Amino acid sequence: MSDEPQFPPIPAVGDILDRKKRFVEKKHSVIKCSACQADFLRQFKAGDFVFKKLTDEECEKCQRSKSLTLIEIYSEWIDPKKKS
Ligand SMILES: [Zn+2]
Repeated sequence: MSDEPQFPPIPAVGDILDRKKRFVEKKHSVIKCSACQADFLRQFKAGDFVFKKLTDEECEKCQRSKSLTLIEIYSEWIDPKKKS
């Protein structure tokens, strides 16, 4: 048992730079419809933020507008050379 705090290892800066060079960041927004309770994904758009009301977009499921809220934004790193 040690009193010294344990810090997680810091990733080398070189690794991150290599990753950025090779991978492409792909962002998605998760949208929740308060009319039909469906949630679905769409591509992230500039200006998106969590809890934003999407009054100018329609629900994918029920086609109603003005009831959509952006509940989550997440990004993944895609390797453009790899075919999935
Ligand atoms: Zn809906």
